[in-house]
Amino acid sequence: MTSDNEPKGAILQRDKETYAIVPRIPGGLAKLENFKEIVKVVEKYNIPIIKITSGHRLALVGMKGEVVNDIWHDLKMDEGRAVELCLHYVQACPGNAVCRFGVQDSLGLGIEIEKFFLNMTMPAKVKIGVSGCPFCCGESFVRDIGIIGKRRGWTVVFGGNSGRRPRIGDVIAENNSGDEVKTLAKLCLEFYAANGKKKERTARFIERIGIDEFKKAIKEGMCSQPHIAPLIKFHHQIKDDLGEGYEIPLFDPCDGGIKSKALFLLEAPGPKAVKSGFISRNNPDPSAKNMDRLLVESGFSRGETILWNIVPWYVGKERKIRSINAKDIDTSMPYLECLLKLLPELRVIILVGKKAQSAKKKISKITKLPLIVSYHPSNQSINRDKNRRPDILKKFKDAKEISNNPI
Ligand code: SF4
Repeated sequence: MTSDNEPKGAILQRDKETYAIVPRIPGGLAKLENFKEIVKVVEKYNIPIIKITSGHRLALVGMKGEVVNDIWHDLKMDEGRAVELCLHYVQACPGNAVCRFGVQDSLGLGIEIEKFFLNMTMPAKVKIGVSGCPFCCGESFVRDIGIIGKRRGWTVVFGGNSGRRPRIGDVIAENNSGDEVKTLAKLCLEFYAANGKKKERTARFIERIGIDEFKKAIKEGMCSQPHIAPLIKFHHQIKDDLGEGYEIPLFDPCDGGIKSKALFLLEAPGPKAVKSGFISRNNPDPSAKNMDRLLVESGFSRGETILWNIVPWYVGKERKIRSINAKDIDTSMPYLECLLKLLPELRVIILVGKKAQSAKKKISKITKLPLIVSYHPSNQSINRDKNRRPDILKKFKDAKEISNNPI
């Protein structure tokens, strides 16, 4: 940390006499004028060292403290923060602006993200790495926040570190738009800022609180976003109606919420959904993983889909789940009717698995939307017959085609 006696934006060097400064170069994209000014001040003040830093910045090193303010004045560049507890830099690879492998605009997003978090105070220094493709030249998995471009959107990673105790960051969300990435990164950093200890880097923070707790908190934070808030209200309404004793996981706020075009209805929440608190393709079970892959392969973007269950509450006792029955379906049907009213852009409903399909007649009485039926994506179902997976994929692709139709 710089002391009050030190010149602004300057870092005292090992010799305890000279200083270094790091002008801010957003995205590592220096302009010709920047270079001209840098050359001028290097000559004028006889600066002995120009160092290209690991964070894509130029450090000017070896000046006496009394000239630092004059150098800043001549440079006309912003101060790049290098020792304070805040965002230090966003390292962004060239991405699809230049690189032949790039599939996303990492430079553009990197510059936006840097502006977005520039003045936020953190428990420790924060570094962000943005890569335009899965080759990850922006070192995204070893940055506090990593952002990786893939064909279907951005993956967001949190808690990476490349220092003395390296840590590979955890994937928080996938297939997101640039705006969703900013929202997610903001929620991650706000939660870290509120709960991290002073000088505790994100890697140690995640090790202390646990990644599952962190993910849950971020998803809960996302629940106040406009696309999901009405569904959260609806969820509270079901809970109030049914009273204590019903475990009802929430909608996944990373999905499309009220903007969804395709509703995937399964049977009832499993224990993993109850534990995570969300009906999510990111739950740690094979069915969710298969569902996620099939949805990506069928061409749906995340914002077009919503996952829910015919019966929204856990059926069974403790962790011993049972199948849904006719009484469960009758009780849940008015809630499904309410849900459909909250989804004005919905084009198609997909009944996933036999149990969900057993409610088809009743559903067709409450909506005129097309109903598609598919096998369940569990390993047990898919492994029963080699044609099942291709069949599910075809049904999902059919749904995607219908979802493209105007109302
Ligand atoms: S991460 Fe991909 S897009 Fe970025 S520089 Fe590397 S290869 Fe190119």
